[in-house]
Amino acid sequence: MNYYYIETFGCQMNVHESEKIAGILEEKGLTRVSEASLSDVVVFNTCCIRDTAEKKIEGNIGELKALKRARPDMIIVISGCMTQQSGRAEALKKRFPFIDIILGTNNQYELWDKIERLISGKKKLISIDDAEKPPISEDVPICRTSFPNAWINIMYGCNNFCTYCIVPYVRGRERSRDPELILKEITAATDSGYKEITLLGQNVDSYGSDLASGMNFYKLLERIAGIEKKFRVRFMTSHPKDLSEDVIKLIAEHKNFCKNIHLPVQSGSDSVLRRMNRKYTKKRYLELIDCIRKYMPEAGITTDIMVGFPSESDEDFRETVDLVERVRFQNAFTFVYSPRKGTPAAAMEQLPPEVKKARITELVARQNAISDEISRDYLAREYEILVEDELDGVVAGRTDSGRLVRFPGEKSDIGKFINVLVTKNKASSLYGERV
Ligand code: SF4
Repeated sequence: MNYYYIETFGCQMNVHESEKIAGILEEKGLTRVSEASLSDVVVFNTCCIRDTAEKKIEGNIGELKALKRARPDMIIVISGCMTQQSGRAEALKKRFPFIDIILGTNNQYELWDKIERLISGKKKLISIDDAEKPPISEDVPICRTSFPNAWINIMYGCNNFCTYCIVPYVRGRERSRDPELILKEITAATDSGYKEITLLGQNVDSYGSDLASGMNFYKLLERIAGIEKKFRVRFMTSHPKDLSEDVIKLIAEHKNFCKNIHLPVQSGSDSVLRRMNRKYTKKRYLELIDCIRKYMPEAGITTDIMVGFPSESDEDFRETVDLVERVRFQNAFTFVYSPRKGTPAAAMEQLPPEVKKARITELVARQNAISDEISRDYLAREYEILVEDELDGVVAGRTDSGRLVRFPGEKSDIGKFINVLVTKNKASSLYGERV
């Protein structure tokens, strides 16, 4: 067994978990390849946030059948959120009998053990730990794939049960990692040259609430602020019900923390927010934005917005547009609500698709116009860019506030901080030159 292939679906959490799956396989001497047909182990790390995502993954799994027929010794592994839903692993096994191993979100660390058992003659293997608070697996090797950024989990799971979201059902309740292990991982990553750390959790602001030590997100950030090296810190995701003024102030005061806050609002209507079980109001959200701007006037504020939630009236939608105009987000990830089986909102009264379509079209147009106006503020100003990527002599990297800027450069610039003058704003991209 020499080669492995991983296909990752879904969010940054999954991207990072695939880095751990890769770490396990590389520790055993396997090499990554970019085509499933060339590999001995194929892993699909799956997502179930939307029905459409699951359908697409099922289609991709189906395509593996021909590969398995041609190479019966190929080991096919399906892991991640999709498998963790009640009864789903058994259903997958029945529909796709050629799958060899199915691992839940808390069982990925068992991968090599399961491969060995399979080779020693055990039948198809399924391992799903569906405890509410499964233990955190530490010391899993990581093969990082997003230099100069290192993803670092600070917590797992979610306690919030937003009515449209499947995550709490497939990721269990909140479990925070030991702060010393997080700090050790940050130190190791920055020692080996990583220049940006992104702290990951479904709701980072409630970090520590399950720890007996009194640790919380503010105290964790304070400890990270004490690391005397030049690197950037970002985090995702914050929840408006939990983000505190103390945390905002600390981010503002410390140069290593990026002045870029992603704060999902989802809707500007209090009645929709209530039905979503978001536990904040439009007023509270706007107060938070004022607080961020008080301490960080130049912060890049981004958000997630969902339109077409069940029973969203035209008036509710107007509240969302009003919020977008008042906040003036640097960027917004906009979605049309689609029912997710197994969540309370799927049983609520749904809106006709044409209403959703008209609303998303209006919202996207309004937000794009705002993003363009904000982009113009970047023109003729100098920014420190951390270079992330290179293509055909042009490098791309972000400002501290999270805006992507492109300028001439080479591969060896990746991971460097370079001062750039922004000279052009075209089709929502910024371009510049070194100073
Ligand atoms: S906070 Fe809400 S949207 Fe985010 S993962 Fe938890 S339940 Fe889902």
